[in-house]
Amino acid sequence: MKARVAIGIDIGGTNTKLALVTNEGAIRGAKSFKTQDYPDFPAYLKELTRQIQELIELKKTTSLAETPIAGIGVGAPNANWNNGHIVSPVNLKWGKVDLAHQLEAAVGLPVELDNDANTAAIGEALFGVAKGERDFIMVTLGTGVGTGIYAEGQIIRSVNGKAGEGGHIVIEKDGRQCACGGKGHLEAYASSPGVELTGEKIFGRKITAKEVSDLCTKGDALANKTVDETAEWLGLGLSTMAAVLNPTMFVLAGGVSQISEDFDKRVQHWLDVYAFKAIRHEARVRTTSTNQENGSVLGAAALILHGKH
Ligand SMILES: [Zn+2]
Repeated sequence: MKARVAIGIDIGGTNTKLALVTNEGAIRGAKSFKTQDYPDFPAYLKELTRQIQELIELKKTTSLAETPIAGIGVGAPNANWNNGHIVSPVNLKWGKVDLAHQLEAAVGLPVELDNDANTAAIGEALFGVAKGERDFIMVTLGTGVGTGIYAEGQIIRSVNGKAGEGGHIVIEKDGRQCACGGKGHLEAYASSPGVELTGEKIFGRKITAKEVSDLCTKGDALANKTVDETAEWLGLGLSTMAAVLNPTMFVLAGGVSQISEDFDKRVQHWLDVYAFKAIRHEARVRTTSTNQENGSVLGAAALILHGKH
């Protein structure tokens, strides 16, 4: 197969990552900058364009010098593949922006934009632990909780482009306040702020998710309880998704997926406890195998290199 190359971009609430990616998933010239430094969207777009130009210059010095860039794939929170817009994500202060068309105009290359959980799912399907799976759900566990759904070999987006917001299913009536404004949503329990609230309840003091993780590694009983309760909330939420979609796999990614070495096994346990009997044990819970840092950049570039999914 002839080598092809695209630029993959992952826009996160904290950092923006970008790199040249080949159709075989090789990454060149990975870069990042602080999204938070650009609360004003025109200034952000200017910086992003500058970084992209640097990558284009860098390409000229590599073995890919003669290979034209096929386009730019972008993953971002609350991004809508249907219209190329990013709509007021909790962690970005831009409001609604037409990123795809503005970036296309600034750089002169075709741009495809998709929700970051979808791009992570595409990366995992092409290059990771979900290779060959036709029905699986990517679950990103960071500041928020995102899901990207593959059903019968395709990403599910819906006519309005907002399918797969599994972080906002209700798992407890009148439960914790979610960052989206709702109550009792999975995100309020399985995100890193969710771990911190559970930890505060169990420890009787404020505690960071990192401290919970470090203490859990050392065998601390309260940290172990915090991790297990988090796994239970997540397993409960996933059992609902499993009943609806009957996936063969859940792939966990993001900081909370690393909170303990056996977090995927704990989530598997609780998923099987809560799952509908007819499909119990049919969905395996795995941790991402694409590099945590690069999975969504790979998937974003794949929007260009491997078609629409
Ligand atoms: Zn919510």
